[in-house]
Amino acid sequence: MAAENLTELIGPFVKSESGRTLKDSTLREFWAGLSAAVMSKIADDWDATRTAYAAGRQEHYLSAEFLEGRALLNNLNNLGLVEEAEAAVKQYGLELSDVLEEEPDAALGNGGLGRLAACFLDSCATLDYPVTGYGILYRYGLFKQTFENGFQSEHPDAWMEEGYPFVIRREEEQRRVRFADMEVRAVPYDMPITGYGTNNVGTLRLWKSEPLEEFDYDAFNSQRFTDAIVERERVMDLCRVLYPNDTTFEGKVLRVRQQYFFTSASLQEMIANYLEQHGEDLTDFAKYNCIQLNDTHPVLAIPELMRILLDEHGMTWEDAWEIVTKTFAYTNHTVLAEALETWQVSIFEKLFPRVLEIVYEIDRRFREDLRERGIDEGKINYLAPVSDGLVHMAWIACYASFSINGVAALHTEILKRETLHDWYEIWPERFNNKTNGVTPRRWLNQCNPRLAALLTELSGSDAWVSDLDKLADLEKFADDEKVLGWVTEIKDANKADFAKWIKARQGVDVDPTSVFDVQIKRLHEYKRQLMNAIYIIDLYYRIKENPEGNWPKRTFIFGAKSAPGYVRAKAIIKLINEVARLVDNDPVVSKFITVVFVENYNVSPAEHIIPAADVSEQISTAGKEASGTSNMKFMMNGALTLGTLDGANVEILDAVGDDNAYIFGAKEEELPALRESYNPREAYETVPGLKRALDAFVNGTLDDNNTGMFHDLLSSLLDGTNWGEPADVYFVLADFPSYRETRDRMAADYADRQAWARKCWINICRSGRFSSDRTINDYAREVWKLEATPIKK
Ligand SMILES: *Cc1c(COP(=O)(O)O)cnc(C)c1O
Repeated sequence: MAAENLTELIGPFVKSESGRTLKDSTLREFWAGLSAAVMSKIADDWDATRTAYAAGRQEHYLSAEFLEGRALLNNLNNLGLVEEAEAAVKQYGLELSDVLEEEPDAALGNGGLGRLAACFLDSCATLDYPVTGYGILYRYGLFKQTFENGFQSEHPDAWMEEGYPFVIRREEEQRRVRFADMEVRAVPYDMPITGYGTNNVGTLRLWKSEPLEEFDYDAFNSQRFTDAIVERERVMDLCRVLYPNDTTFEGKVLRVRQQYFFTSASLQEMIANYLEQHGEDLTDFAKYNCIQLNDTHPVLAIPELMRILLDEHGMTWEDAWEIVTKTFAYTNHTVLAEALETWQVSIFEKLFPRVLEIVYEIDRRFREDLRERGIDEGKINYLAPVSDGLVHMAWIACYASFSINGVAALHTEILKRETLHDWYEIWPERFNNKTNGVTPRRWLNQCNPRLAALLTELSGSDAWVSDLDKLADLEKFADDEKVLGWVTEIKDANKADFAKWIKARQGVDVDPTSVFDVQIKRLHEYKRQLMNAIYIIDLYYRIKENPEGNWPKRTFIFGAKSAPGYVRAKAIIKLINEVARLVDNDPVVSKFITVVFVENYNVSPAEHIIPAADVSEQISTAGKEASGTSNMKFMMNGALTLGTLDGANVEILDAVGDDNAYIFGAKEEELPALRESYNPREAYETVPGLKRALDAFVNGTLDDNNTGMFHDLLSSLLDGTNWGEPADVYFVLADFPSYRETRDRMAADYADRQAWARKCWINICRSGRFSSDRTINDYAREVWKLEATPIKK
């Protein structure tokens, strides 16, 4: 690392950003200058890391999404430069926290899947694993959300329009990607991924599409201005937007174009590096390279690698297939059927006929292979890469990958038993579980400095930051009144910080002494934000009925974006906002409870919310949430889980025990029988309070501005739809009674702060296995066969 101190570096860097005196430079320019100064400090180590990684076995993490959030504080923490940075900006009368708030979130992802990719890169850097992430430099990240009269409204997020110092354009490493109807340049933009307690600096390489020629001068000169611009814009369109949809996809052709674009460019680079390092014979490609497919979005890499090996390197099919099937590993992220991507054959035909030809040949050989195994034609046709005019991306992935993994123990079991059962029967050895994790750097050390300081003090060092299992040693303080007192004080201070933050951001007043009960995640019916809202409506009536009751003070916090085209999810957002208004307008009820919907939920708001949470709402219908990762972030920060036995909640319960988590609701294996036996209308009529709460949707208590959307919500619960969806698909009304009972009990338990703090402490001390370092070590050992490669000891 260069010797210069940030105190000396900051001035010149800010000036070069602002082009004026420091006195006149804006906060934003100070952020940019400080960030550029940090980049200058890691440049040499970054270079050394790339050189070291290029020579040996590497893993390449292909993902259409990386939800990185902010970078500056993360880098300062990793490099041990926070205090230096504070001093550097103080010289100019500034606070580091104000400078940090100037940074836009790099929101190049929708939610859990993209954030997982970001946590993984953080762990790979920290553990010195030779791993590179590859994705797309979207010009517009996930849309910005505002509420207009309670309705979600979407706005473009031009996150790097004003410049972004943490990506470097590498002009000289550009590739060309050819489509049948267009040829583009793929220009890499590299983001450094620093690690904690290491000099290694990993790389996230984001590809940007550009026209082969900057500008068609002929067209321009001959006064055809628009022609010159139209072609250019068509190419730029490719990377313009991240699709704001978690599950199903719109704009299909463009979506497929994006997928091919970034996978092709990434593979070209891997091949070029191999040739440079290991010579002309590509036989050993899989010895030096392994590719993890983060869901099916990058699956086109499979036929594309075949194409490169066959057409550009003259290999036989057998030799090429041998390499491909030793290179790829596939992670499945969901059991929701609508998310298993399929594309019309006609799209492939239009964009890349040669790749389609290869897909057909994979399909032909697959069918032959399965016939030889004695599998019946019906099943073969179902599992085939191409059937009924559709290309099945997940089936290509399952056929070509040597490893197929789910993201939590329960999820992997469901994959084996249902979603991918036929594959499991044929190739059981390919299946494995890798329970997700989150990085304790961002999600504990960075976002909760008070708790981090306590953990460091009690354990005598900061070693826990890169070895979270060390927190288990602190469980001996679980009955230490002084320590539990500190835990409570820290939580209260974090809650006061949140109250200030949300007041400044949205003008809402919250009582920091109330129970903070939080549900933050993408809005989806299976996540059951609706059940949460129904509870609050019911509580509203219960309080009105008995205003003298001993009601614990509570703040209900939501954060969620809905896919723009997901009508019912948008209705639920409006409903929650109306519930907030109903409560707020009631002079009696508002003394006890407050409902806050945090606008534009994203990584940096999550960093403000999670350290302040008491209750972590993880209430999805059992079997639907593959893993969840916010459940882990909350646990690390001493919030208690109120959850179903779903995804990684099962493993959280396993870690902390019944006394330290609040579990309710039907289990996954009970649901088929429940579907038969349970009648939502009967629940509506007979469960005390339920009718009263649900009637509020449509009797004028809650106002949907005459859109009819609340009526549709109610009818989805009671009647189902005329396109065959049963009533209450996600068992909201079925689980409501046990949810209410458990949530009431939890709120009452909070009154004993000492006992509550003890539970929090157990959760914190046992969160070690939910560090993404554990997940990445497992991938490295069992799937990637990767060795740590530190550049300096
Ligand atoms: C962690 C995280 C998620 C995933 O949340 P789940 O509750 O696991 O779905 C989504 N969005 C952001 C911004 C996150 O930080």
